[in-house]
Order: sequence, then structure tokens, then C-alpha cells
Amino acid sequence: MHTLKKFIQYYAPYKKVFFLDLICAAVISLVDLAFPQILRTLTKTLFTESSDVILWALLPITLVLLVMYMIQTGCKYYVSYQGHMMGAYMERDMRQQLFDHYERLSFSYYDQNNSGQMMSKLVSDLFDISEFAHHGPENLFISLIKIIGSFVFLFLINWKLAIPLLVIVAIMLFFSYGQNKKMQATFMDNRRKIGNLNSSLQDTLAGIRVVQSFANEDIEREKFKKSNQGFLSSKNANYRCMGSFTGGNLFFQGMMYLMTLVFGGWLIAHGQMESADLAMYALYIGIFISPIQILVELTEMMQKGLSGFRRFLDVVETEPEIVDAEDAEPLENIKGHVRYEHVSFHYNDDDSLVLDDVSFDIQAGKSIALVGASGSGKTTICSLLPRFYDVSEGRITIDGKDVRKLTLQSLREQIGLVQQDVYLFCGSIRENIAYGRPDASMEEIIEAAKKANIHEFIMELPDGYETFVGERGTRLSGGQKQRISIARVFLKNPPILILDEATSALDNESERFIQQSLEELAKDRTTITIAHRLSTIRNADEILVVAENGIVECGTHDELLEKGGIYAHYYEMS
Ligand code: ADP
Ligand code: MG
Repeated sequence: MHTLKKFIQYYAPYKKVFFLDLICAAVISLVDLAFPQILRTLTKTLFTESSDVILWALLPITLVLLVMYMIQTGCKYYVSYQGHMMGAYMERDMRQQLFDHYERLSFSYYDQNNSGQMMSKLVSDLFDISEFAHHGPENLFISLIKIIGSFVFLFLINWKLAIPLLVIVAIMLFFSYGQNKKMQATFMDNRRKIGNLNSSLQDTLAGIRVVQSFANEDIEREKFKKSNQGFLSSKNANYRCMGSFTGGNLFFQGMMYLMTLVFGGWLIAHGQMESADLAMYALYIGIFISPIQILVELTEMMQKGLSGFRRFLDVVETEPEIVDAEDAEPLENIKGHVRYEHVSFHYNDDDSLVLDDVSFDIQAGKSIALVGASGSGKTTICSLLPRFYDVSEGRITIDGKDVRKLTLQSLREQIGLVQQDVYLFCGSIRENIAYGRPDASMEEIIEAAKKANIHEFIMELPDGYETFVGERGTRLSGGQKQRISIARVFLKNPPILILDEATSALDNESERFIQQSLEELAKDRTTITIAHRLSTIRNADEILVVAENGIVECGTHDELLEKGGIYAHYYEMS
């Protein structure tokens, strides 16, 4: 009920189209229903009157029919054009709402949901919804008018013949409904199988280099063959059901005609029915047969549409965990003094603490380095500062202001992040660098590229800054991608910087090269560096050693060596 009510709200902006659509649908049905009546009048004239009268009767009938069909044509045009457009408008509205919402959902949501499913929500679920949105009310309306209208006329013409017809219709509805249900189950299975097929294909293609390097083509082929065969079997079941559904319906239709002829003939023979009315019966059967099937299919369309809509609601009703506080202020003109005060954190409510009572202080423009085993929580510490997650306990401040009291936009504008994995968007190098500040001029972009040591490389490319980098930047080496991401941050020019193993995916030579750019970048900025090679952080103002759930040592490089603890141990090993 809740779902249906929410669903109806999406019609609100298109009320006018919606009602016009229904009116047109009604007109179309009424014209169909009127035709046999007109024919009936004409045949009665044919049987009883002289040829002169008949000829004169043809003129008004021609006119009436002409006007009726012209109106019907206009209505049909409106229904199939504007009716479909209404569905498309609603689909557009929902898709935009879903996209906007996806953008606002927090990291924690993305930890738990996969992007393939999210894509399918944007595409197939919304399509089901829009199909139902316009065909649903329209078809229901048309079918009901045609079926009820036909039966009203049938009863008026001859109720004795109408009753057995009604019985056959009831049986047919029952049968169709059952068959259709089965058929829809096979449709669902079809969809699942094609989903498997696609993901199997996608997986192999994405990993084709791995497949070939292990010479595992045969194994992959067998796997694919199985999915492919599975899809075929599912199609088989589907078409079998479809066969019985359409065949069965045809049978019932035949039975209706047969019954009408035999029983109608009997009634005529016994003088209980006019012979001209038998033809009317056959015509009305033709009118309500297809709406019965449409009505049956509508139940499934509604289920599909509404369950798609429910999945849509699930997403848009998920509140983002991290949003601006009501009294949030923008963070402006900052110095860059960062403080962690007794910060504790766990990812999910039931998980154990990843950070337990972590405190440290970085004066504006100074740098700290985090070192520690993989999985000790270094990245987690950094992701709390831009509020990718919120602390479970304690607080983090910038220039004395709690980050939770700042607007997200202004907070994140002040922080630059360079990570191990670089994500480049499908587009040109220029666009990818400008992502750091979309309103930057070309001179500023070049300036940033120079600082990141990538300008010369870009100039050697045939299209220079307009070179297309392909999906995820596959056409560039790891070092080149990293330098583009550094140029992005130079352009953004934030006072606070996080370098999370920015060079750990690179070979020694690229690393040394990039290290220079990173040092340049870190100048005069408050910097948190996570390094996997200790040589790169010797000069940090303070080094924090992170272990299971907290900081266990801190000091400068020399102090820590002297202390002879964990850091000194790491240092000896490296
Ligand atoms: P580091 O950067 O030091 O290698 P992380 O901060 O990435 O360590 O991870 C610390 C711990 O938190 C690990 O045990 C890891 O499994 C866990 N963890 C990291 N990210 C998530 C996440 N998104 N959801 C749940 N647990 C996570
Ligand atoms: Mg990490």
C-alpha cells in the first residue's frame, strides 16, 4: 500500500496527460464497441427494407463511421505518443533521483553493495517501472471497458446465449492466469540465466590477459559453454509455456465461436433469437478476446513494475550516513592545524575496533608519517579526516573546528588525496587533470602538469592534452597515471594533503621520479603520508607507528631509531 501510494506520487506532474490518456483510451474502446451496433442496424435494414431505403441509409452510416474512425485515430495517436512519453518522463525523473541519491550515499553503502546491481536498478528496473506506469492504468481501463461493454451488449441482444459464454470466459481467465504465471517464472529464469551469461563473459573479457597467460582458455570455454547451454534450456522452458498459453487461449476462443454457432443456431431454430444477431455475437467475441489476455498479462506487468519500484524505493529511502549537520558552517581561510582527539572507530556496528583511542596533532604546514603493517588501520585513520566515515568516538578538528560541524563540500575542498590506485575517467588528459578544479584555465592545467613532472610526456603524445586516456586510463603506465593524479591535486591546491602509499604500485625509478613531485606538493601543506618504504618519510616532522587498533610509538626518525622499538626494527629490515 505504501509502495502504491508512493508510486502514484510520480504521476503528479503529469496529471493532465494521465487523464487525457485515459479519456482517449476510453474513446478508442467505445468506438470498437459501437461498430457491431451500427452493423446490426444496417443488417436489420438490409433484411427488411427496399433497396432504395438501403442506399439512402448508407450515407449517414458512412458519415458516422468516418467521423468515429477519425476520432479513434486521433486518440490512438495521443495514447501511443503522449502515453508512452508520460512513462518516459516518469522514468527520467526516477533515474535522475536515483543518480542524485547514489552520489550522496556514503562510503559505507558502497562497501556493502555492488555496482553491477546498482547499474541494473538504473536500467532494467526503471524500464519495468515505466512500462507499467503508462500501460498499467491505460490497459486496465481499455480492457475493462471492452469486456464489460461487450457483455452488456451480449446480454441485451440475447441473455440465454450470453450465460454459457460467460462461463467459458471464466474458465479461460483461470487457465490463462495459471499459464501466464508459469510463463513469467520462466521469463525470470531467462533473465537470471542471461545475467549469468553476461557476467561470465564480462569476467573473462576483463581478465583476458590473465586467462591467456595461464593458458586457461579451455577451462573458460567450458564454463561459458555451460552458461550458454543453461540459457538455451531456460529458453526452451519459456517457449514451451508460451506455446501452451497462446495455444490454450486459441482453443477457448474456438470453443466460444463453436458454442455460439451451435447454441445460437438452436436458439434461432426455436425462434428465440433473430438470425441477424448471431453475427453480432461473433463480432463481440472478437472484441473482448484480446483484452482478456491483456488483463492477464497486466497482473504480471504490475508485479514486475511494483517490485522494481520497491527496489528503487529501497535505495532512495536509504539515508546517507554522512550529511551536513544542521548548523554546519563552511570551512574558510584555514591554516591547516589538524588534531585527532581520542578517536575510536569500527566499520560496522558489530565489528571490533579498528582504531582505539588514537590521538595526535599536526601543526599547520607540518607533516606526519604513518607506518605500520598492512591492515593496521593507516588508511582508516586518513579516511576519517574528509569524513568518508565518521568517528565512533572522540573527535577530529581542523583549526579547532570539529569536522562534523563543517559543510562536507568545504571540508573536502580543503583536502587533497593521492592514493595507490588512480582512477582516471574516460576522457582526455586535460579533462582528467581539470577534475581537480573544473573551472581552471588551460594555463593553470599546464602549470599543474609541469609541477607534477608530466607536461613533457603529454607534449610528446600525438594529441597532447587532448589525448584520450580510455576506460580507467588503460593506455597509460602506472607512473604516468599517478602523475596525472598528482597534477589534479596541484590544481586543486588544498592546504591539507593525504598521501596514501602513493608510490607503492610503482617501480623504483618511477617512484624516485614521483617522490620529487610529491615533496614539491607537500611543501607548506599539512601532510599525512603513509609510506611503505621508510626512506621516503625520514624527513617527516613526526612519525607515528600504527599497530592493531592504535598508535604505539611516535617521534622523529632519529628519536625512534634511538628508542630501538618497532620502528627501529622495521628500519633494520628495510
Ligand atoms: P592499512 O591501510 O593500514 O593497510 P586499513 O585501514 O585499510 O589498513 O584497514 C584496517 C582494518 O580495517 C583491516 O582489518 C581491514 O580489514 C578493515 N577494513 C578496511 N576497510 C574496511 C571497510 N570498508 N569495511 C570493513 N572493514 C574494513
Ligand atoms: Mg592502506
